[in-house]
Parts: sequence; structure tokens; C-alpha cells
Amino acid sequence: MPPAQPPLFRRRRWRVKLLLYLCPMVFSSSLLENAVNEFARLPGIGKKTALRLVLHLIKKDVSEVKNFSEAIQRLREEIKFCSRCHNIADKELCNICANNLRRQEMICVVENIRDVIAIESTQQYNGLYHVLGGIISPLDGIGPDQLQIDTLIERAKNEQSEEIIFALSPNIQGDTTIYYIGKKLKDLPVKITTIARGIAFGGELEYADEMTLARSISNRMPVENYVMNK
Ligand SMILES: [Zn+2]
Repeated sequence: MPPAQPPLFRRRRWRVKLLLYLCPMVFSSSLLENAVNEFARLPGIGKKTALRLVLHLIKKDVSEVKNFSEAIQRLREEIKFCSRCHNIADKELCNICANNLRRQEMICVVENIRDVIAIESTQQYNGLYHVLGGIISPLDGIGPDQLQIDTLIERAKNEQSEEIIFALSPNIQGDTTIYYIGKKLKDLPVKITTIARGIAFGGELEYADEMTLARSISNRMPVENYVMNK
């Protein structure tokens, strides 16, 4: 076992780390500095990570880096939003809306495109989607008019939907959004459902909040629907 470091040395190392954190990065090249600054503007990317990514790109072939930058540029210039569900698309309709094998009478309402990807990854849903572009949140200044709610109501009418499934975050804003849209849909012959809410798989019962636990008990299901079908 290596001998323990004396406290003075440990303190000094901590000070060096703090200094490195506080000091601005000094670059020998403005090209390098610009690239690092651009990467550091991405969410979750700090200057150090940005520098690591840029140095990685410098080591690659010019053709590889060109392909990378072209992919990013084309993504921004050519990306479209599906005219039906507002998901990301290459054409007028996204691949999900254009797929006739999917159940056209079911619409799953989600907050954003990340939710579509998450649900698609489960391979358990075969209907269509509707991306609201957010949820009603007066504190953040987001009202119903800023969301794709009217287009959802139009779709439910025109497409003669049989079921609208709300897959929104289980919080006050999510519930407010469901309540608001539910009221607008109430005169249509459509079943309105929401995804199940309860204790997360692998979660500890004693750590669940009261609301989650209460909902889990009131929305209990027969064991054969859950355990037996696994
Ligand atoms: Zn679509």
C-alpha cells in the first residue's frame, strides 16, 4: 500500500486545481480558440471538454472532419418538421406518419422530440405521435397558444382518432396540459388515456413520494398483466 500523502501536499494540489479552474485558457492559435469556443457553446460541454473534442478532430483525416462538418451543416439547413405531428422529418411527413403499417387511430401526445425517441426505443407502441413543443407552464411564460394544441384538436377531428394517449411529465404542468387539452377534446368520440404512473422499476418503495405512492395504489393492476407477461 502506498504511504498516505502528507496533508500539506494534498492542500497544494487542490489549490493548483482551483487555479486551473479559475484561470482563462490561453491559446496559441486563434483557429483553435474559435473552435473551442464554438464547441463550448453546446449544452453540457465545458471548455475542457471542448478542447479535448477539438484536439481529437485535429488528429483525424481532413476528409473525415469535412464529413462531420457537412453532416452538421446539412442537419441545420435541410431539417424539416413533420406537417402532421411536428416530429423531425426529412420530407413533408416524418417516417412514423408516413408508415401505413402503424395504427393511424392512436395519437400519443408528447412534450418534445426526445420523448418520441424514448418511446420508440421501447418498441412497445405502434401508433402515431403529436409533439406539443412544450407543456403549459405560466411561471415560464408558456401558454396554450405557444404549443401545438390546436393542430392536435384538428387532427383528432379530421383523422377520426379513437384514442389520445398523454405521455407527459407527471407534474403540475403536465397535469395542467392534460386537463386543458382534455376539456377541448371532451365533445369528440375519442378515448383519452395517460401513461401509467407509479413506482419506478428498481426503485425503493419507502423512498417514493406520497403522490406517486397514492397513484400507484389507486392505479393498481392485476398481477397477470404485469409480472406474468414479462
Ligand atoms: Zn409525423
